[in-house]
Amino acid sequence: MKLLVLNVGSTSVKYDLYEMDTEQSLARGRVERVGTDAAVHVQVGGNGHGAVETPVEARDVRGALAAVLARLSAPDAPLATNHLTAVGHRVVHGGERLIQPVKIDAAVEGVIEECAAFAPLHNPVNLAGIRAAREVFGDVPHVAVFDTAFHAQMPEHAFVYALPHDLYTQRGVRRYGFHGPSHQYMAACAAEFLGTAPDRLRLITCHLGGGCSVAAIDRGVSVDTSMGMTPLEGLVMGTRTGDLDPAIPLWLASPDGGGLSPAEIDTLLNRKSGLAGMSGLGADFRDIQAAAERGEVRARLAIEVFVHRLRKYVGAYAALLGGADAIVFSGGIGENSVLVRERVCDRLGFLGVDLDVARNATARAADEGGVIDVAEPRARTRVLVVRTDEERMIAREVMRCLYGPTAAVRSVRARPIPIGVSVRHVHLSRADCDALFGPGVELTRRRDVTQPGQYVTRETVDLIGPKGEVHGVAIINPLRKETQVELARTDALRLGVDPPLRESGKLDGTPGLRLRGPAGEVTITRGVILAHRHVHMSPDDARLFGVGDGDLIEIRAEGDREMTMGDVLVRVSDKYALDLHLDTDEANAASLTSDSVVAFAGVQARR
Ligand code: ADP
Repeated sequence: MKLLVLNVGSTSVKYDLYEMDTEQSLARGRVERVGTDAAVHVQVGGNGHGAVETPVEARDVRGALAAVLARLSAPDAPLATNHLTAVGHRVVHGGERLIQPVKIDAAVEGVIEECAAFAPLHNPVNLAGIRAAREVFGDVPHVAVFDTAFHAQMPEHAFVYALPHDLYTQRGVRRYGFHGPSHQYMAACAAEFLGTAPDRLRLITCHLGGGCSVAAIDRGVSVDTSMGMTPLEGLVMGTRTGDLDPAIPLWLASPDGGGLSPAEIDTLLNRKSGLAGMSGLGADFRDIQAAAERGEVRARLAIEVFVHRLRKYVGAYAALLGGADAIVFSGGIGENSVLVRERVCDRLGFLGVDLDVARNATARAADEGGVIDVAEPRARTRVLVVRTDEERMIAREVMRCLYGPTAAVRSVRARPIPIGVSVRHVHLSRADCDALFGPGVELTRRRDVTQPGQYVTRETVDLIGPKGEVHGVAIINPLRKETQVELARTDALRLGVDPPLRESGKLDGTPGLRLRGPAGEVTITRGVILAHRHVHMSPDDARLFGVGDGDLIEIRAEGDREMTMGDVLVRVSDKYALDLHLDTDEANAASLTSDSVVAFAGVQARR
């Protein structure tokens, strides 16, 4: 399932192509300087770096999209032999009517056009992108995902302005909120990272990029956000004022204030204010931070005002939510500015915030799977930094629109888990190996098993129980501290032992057995277990699935015989590759072989 996400701006087209079965990004890039002779296609490397620029012909949006299609369908490119399943469009304003991702038809285009009244810079451009894409990419479903939609469930008292009520009911003047996909993505990441269902969390999410906004998210629902009818309200931004006494624009329009026209006031508030206006240094936070470090007074002031406003909102939203389980930072500034996070958290001790200052200064979300926690371990409120990925969130929303509410969840979690059917096997201690094969004998490698560093040896042992024997049992090296025999239930019956279901290595109270090798026999007094079905995974996999070491999960096999199997123990280590271990009986019962593939189906119990 190949899904293309488009974000069409006035002079640029950004795109992201996903394989939605695994939610893998296949290609990412943008066309810049659209509408000029100097248009370029910029292909972004897998890690977000290493961009390659090539000139393209893109005199309008249609030309830019044609260039994207040509690029994606070139030989060896992802669409060379595959068809596109759907196109997702980021649209800034959906008003009160478009509050869900929606399949685009003429009626939807009409509503997007109406909403241009509230987003004159964005909606017309987004709509032009939709129309051009429907020509260029043809007859696949096109789905619009709105920046405003995530905030659509805000309660009335949060979105109504204290204006004459008719302005709301007849003209739609109210707060809508923006950056929806980013806030939604932060909330999803936080829940996954914290191993908690989103509907159990109170979050304050801070999107701090060129534009900035905060949201109060109560059990998955945005209950307030700092941007309003337009993206001008709220926090201090790169070039936008954010909150302002509404009398100021009136004064600017008056003779005393210079008699500015509405267009001039618009430019002043949207393009000449914010960090740029205060500092006189432009909108790039890095430059302002550097200037502040050099002691430049206006740069310092700009940062003070930025942080002050943000802290004020965080405190206000904590009051709305009755506390917060986590404060989440994202966007270019939120993700990268150590200073901003430190300063904002500085006075939030009353809220249970306790920043791990050293970790805040050194850890990077980009280096650690996209999410980090920079709070002290015992702090009541977590402080998370998330590398935002609005396009991925839009892709999930498109799936939800086309395939129903579980589609997005499923696609995130559909990373297939390979099965290693663990046939009965033995781990030996040095002493027992000596007794069975001769002193100092090194067993030889027959084949590697999936877990790095482990291998099955050529040599085997026989097991001798009170009722019967099992011959030629595999040994897995390297040697261990204590001998352990892992059996399937039928083996245990044949041998006449009654081992418990156990995690590997937990051998207290387990029965013993006799083992026979070419050089002699040993009797172990404990160490026989039925291996608890388990799945090995790396910390990255664990994050993807939202699970932790020791959790019990359910897995699902798809295909001819669909079934769900529970009680699968999660084992997390950076030495593990993703691999499900079932014993042979279980695998036979479920008709699974080592060629089968299963998927994560949900958490059953947390450790
Ligand atoms: P946009 O909203 O345009 O997508 P970004 O999310 O990329 O923007 O954020 C851009 C902002 O992030 C700019 O103000 C930039 O200076 C700031 N930023 C990027 N890297 C850093 C950094 N290392 N330290 C501080 N600020 C940074």
